[in-house]
This record gives sequence, C-alpha cells and structure tokens, in this order.
Amino acid sequence: MIRGDTARSEPTIGLPTGESPDDPRFLCDRMLIRLCRWLRAAGYDTSLAGERTSDRRLLTTAVVEHRYLLTRDRKLLEHRGAAGRVIRLQAVRPAGQAAELARRLALDWLHAPFSRCLLCNEPLHVDSGHGAPPGSHGPFRRCPSCARRYWDGGHVRRMRAQLTAWRHAASTGMHRDDESFIL
Ligand SMILES: [Zn+2]
Repeated sequence: MIRGDTARSEPTIGLPTGESPDDPRFLCDRMLIRLCRWLRAAGYDTSLAGERTSDRRLLTTAVVEHRYLLTRDRKLLEHRGAAGRVIRLQAVRPAGQAAELARRLALDWLHAPFSRCLLCNEPLHVDSGHGAPPGSHGPFRRCPSCARRYWDGGHVRRMRAQLTAWRHAASTGMHRDDESFIL
C-alpha cells in the first residue's frame, strides 16, 4: 500500500510491477548495509548489493526480483527505468533513513520481526533451543543457510524496542535520529 499523502514534500513512489503492496521487497546498495539489516529484522525480504556491482546491474536485479532499489546515490535516479523502482534516501543514519522510507512507503517496522536472518536474509526455521545459553527465552530460531541462532535475548529485545519506536514514529511523523546501538 502506498501512502498518498500529498502534503509531504517527497514524491510518492509507484509500485513496481509484480510487487505485493503489503510485502515489498528491497535491494540495498552497499552504503545502506545497516538499514538492510534493520529491514531484515522487521521481516522484509531485503538483499544487499554485491561489492563493485554496476548501477545498471543493480537496476536489472531490482527489476527481475521485483525489489525496490534503495540508495543514497543520486546518480542512480538518472538511469532509464529508475522511476518507481529506485528510492533515494538522504539521511546518513539508519533512524533517519527509516523515517524517510516510512514516509515513502507504508512500511510496518513490526511486519514480521525476527523472521529472517540478519546476515543472509533467509527465512528462519524453528529451532529446539538446545545449546542456547541458560535462562534464555524462546522462540528459538535458526538460519538454514549460515546456522546462526536467534532467541529472545537482550539484543533482540533492544532491537524490537527500536523497531517499535520507528513504527510509532512512522505513525506520528516524529522521529529522533538516535539509533540506540549499532547493528
Ligand atoms: Zn543466516
């Protein structure tokens, strides 16, 4: 779903063909690696551009995989086919980028939290929790690709609190550029 709030200065973004309005997918360029991980934490299918990938290749990948291409590089907007496909963010920090993105798309920062691996974007599998630190709480999940395990520990709780704050900020139009810790 695209927000049609014409009172804001940012142009609204058309929906790429084949995109599910409630489950957008993203491709982040290398400058947005931290935002990439936050989008994965929120549950959005988000891939990260490979190193030294050309702009043309990035755009082609975004089209083929039905992804919005997120970038801070103004030059990407000049490519043919960029309209409605490329979203240029101006903020330097993830909190500001999250706010910009929420103004452009109807993102839910609690879309499906901690359902994807932060490192490789794979949907997580349910895990038994065997071998998790004593006293840790489920649900226990495991990445089928890199085998990283996730549970409801302090790091996940702090991230969830950050996502909750961004969701609140998106609904009120207020945000503080103070991502509380580094992903
Ligand atoms: Zn993984």
